[in-house]
Amino acid sequence: MPNYLVTNDDGIDSPALADLVDALRRLPDTRVYVVAPSEQWSAGGHSITIREPLYVEERPSEHFEVPAWRVEGSPADCVKLALNHLLDEPIDLVVSGINLGYNVATDVLYSGTVAAAIEGVLAGTPALAVSSGKEDGNRGDYRVPAIVAAAMTDMIRRISTNPWLLNVNVPDVSPEELAGVSFTELGPCPYDDKVLVTEDASGRLCYRLGVDVNAEAATEGTDLFAVRANRISITPLEVLRVTQMELLGDLSRMIAELENSLARDLSV
Ligand code: MN
Repeated sequence: MPNYLVTNDDGIDSPALADLVDALRRLPDTRVYVVAPSEQWSAGGHSITIREPLYVEERPSEHFEVPAWRVEGSPADCVKLALNHLLDEPIDLVVSGINLGYNVATDVLYSGTVAAAIEGVLAGTPALAVSSGKEDGNRGDYRVPAIVAAAMTDMIRRISTNPWLLNVNVPDVSPEELAGVSFTELGPCPYDDKVLVTEDASGRLCYRLGVDVNAEAATEGTDLFAVRANRISITPLEVLRVTQMELLGDLSRMIAELENSLARDLSV
């Protein structure tokens, strides 16, 4: 019987998490576990908690009829706790989402949703990060991405045990408007880099990072292009091979020079 771990960086009370759990529970002979943060962790990245204790509350939610734990920690904390301690069963797939808002292009570097999925892959468990174009809504509004996530969950389990890390973005359109599915690559950073300078209520100067999307970043073949064309975007991510092999030649020259300067300055 397949076992699925669900987490969500918008917190355990996100309506999109509940819709995802409902869709996964409809898969045959499936066990679903929820381990999710008590708070909102969007753009929290791959943070983990090591200087403070982690507090966990079991079966805290009336939203879902599956075993659930509320963790006062990050999405990555949740996956670590779940896989290494809370769950007795081996997990076949980590499903992170459904996030309220896309995780496209450089978003994946800041995303708590993708970080939780990465944490699964680091533990050798395939993972799916699923995000929706709808940034807020009610329970029931996330039916389309939930059905997509459940279908992909079942397929991944049947097709391969490879440590997949698939980043999926589902446009915020009705089922009739969905235009298909695209295999995509991450696009370039789509945001302008403007910093907005303003004052808070007490008159203190403060700053906001610009988040306006530059339309030119949505070039063909990218994730942003696909969702703007009402298509589901699927991007396979590589996280374990991050060494920049092409620069090793230049680096070896730099190392020789560094060794010479250390011999001169430090008598190494
Ligand atoms: Mn989020």
